[in-house]
Formats: sequence, C-alpha cells, structure tokens
Amino acid sequence: SSFEDMNLKDELLKGIYSYGFEAPSAIQSRAILQIISGRDTIAQAQSGTGKTATFSIGILEVLDTKVRDCQALVLSPTRELATQIQNVVKSLGDYMKIQCHACIGGTHVGDDIKQLNRGQHIISGTPGRVCDMVKKRNLNTRHIKMLILDEADELLSKGFKQQIYEIYRYLPPGTQVVVVSATLPNDVLEMTSKFMTDPVKILV
Ligand code: AMP
Repeated sequence: SSFEDMNLKDELLKGIYSYGFEAPSAIQSRAILQIISGRDTIAQAQSGTGKTATFSIGILEVLDTKVRDCQALVLSPTRELATQIQNVVKSLGDYMKIQCHACIGGTHVGDDIKQLNRGQHIISGTPGRVCDMVKKRNLNTRHIKMLILDEADELLSKGFKQQIYEIYRYLPPGTQVVVVSATLPNDVLEMTSKFMTDPVKILV
C-alpha cells in the first residue's frame, strides 16, 4: 500500500513526503484508515514501528482546522515523549494551519494557560499537567473527538491511572479512543474495556 491510496488531504500528503516518508510501515498500513474511520483502535506496537506517525496522521486527517479548540488529546508517560509527539505532529502538519501544544509538567503553568487560550487543535501532554488544566477549565474539552493513549502500559505502570480516568470523565461521550501499547497487561485491558466500544485490535 502507499500513502496515496489512503485518500488523505493533499496538504497532509505533502507533509508526509516532505518529512521523508516514502511508504507506510506495517502499523501505518493497517491502523491509519481504521483510526480515520472513527473506530476505537488498540495497536499493540513497540516504539520503532512508526506508531507516532500512525496516530499523528490519523489526527491530522480528521482535524477541522477552522475549529480553534482542542480536537485531539494525546497522553504519554514522559515529557520527552510528549514533546517528541508534538514535533512529529507539527512536521507532518507543516502544510496545514495547525496549533499543537505540549502540555507537560516542569513548565510554567502561566505559559501553558496562555498557549491554551490562543486555541490549540492538538494537545500532546503528560497526564498530571493535562488533568490540572482540564480541571481548572483552561483546557476546553468540548470539541475533543479523539483521545490517544500512547505507551499505555507505561502510563499505567508509572501511576497515572487516576489522572487518566479523571481526564476521561471530562471528554464528550463517544470520544474515539486509540490505545498504543507494547504489552497488554490487565490494567491496560481494564482501561480499554472501560473507555472503548468494540475496538479493532492490531498487532504488529
Ligand atoms: P516510532 O515508532 O513512532 O518511535 O517511530 C520510529 C521511527 O520510524 C521514527 O524515527 C520515524 O520517523 C520513523 N518512521 C515512521 N514511519 C516511517 C515511514 N513510513 N517511513 C520511514 N520512516 C518512518
């Protein structure tokens, strides 16, 4: 398969090729169109498989850039990973007018609030800071249509369960959920059964 076969927006396709990708990886061939279709998706995949671009392309394709509110929320276990995801999203979305903010601990809350008030299409963050911003209503969840839990096994083993469940309570009913995890221990499966409806499972 090729990226052209996916019927993506021209400006997104251009971003993918300028980033240097020529053909989709296995997970990209199997998961991108599922994600775009709106289906809840569990991808069992390690880093190195192209998982970040998989959900980033999915997000960018379904995003409505005219709506300047958060439409996709990506949670990951470390500040570094959240920042890396923000950079991948920005690069792939280079030809689209998108705002993507990294909402992570260790930064000034005031700066976070300023960035959120400017209107962000995509938030890539760690659960602690995102939970804080959601509870204080600085992050408006009303237009969120997609929640990505990246490295879900790590998110839970690092003790973020309570914050993730709390954030989930603020999301609109029917929010699409995408879980990416190298392993599927019980706590991850419990979360998928609570958050997801009839998910498709993709193992790479
Ligand atoms: P990840 O699994 O997200 O950690 O990505 C692993 C590496 O693969 C990153 O350096 C990506 O830039 C690269 N990558 C992802 N998708 C592709 C692709 N379709 N073609 C070439 N490289 C890719």
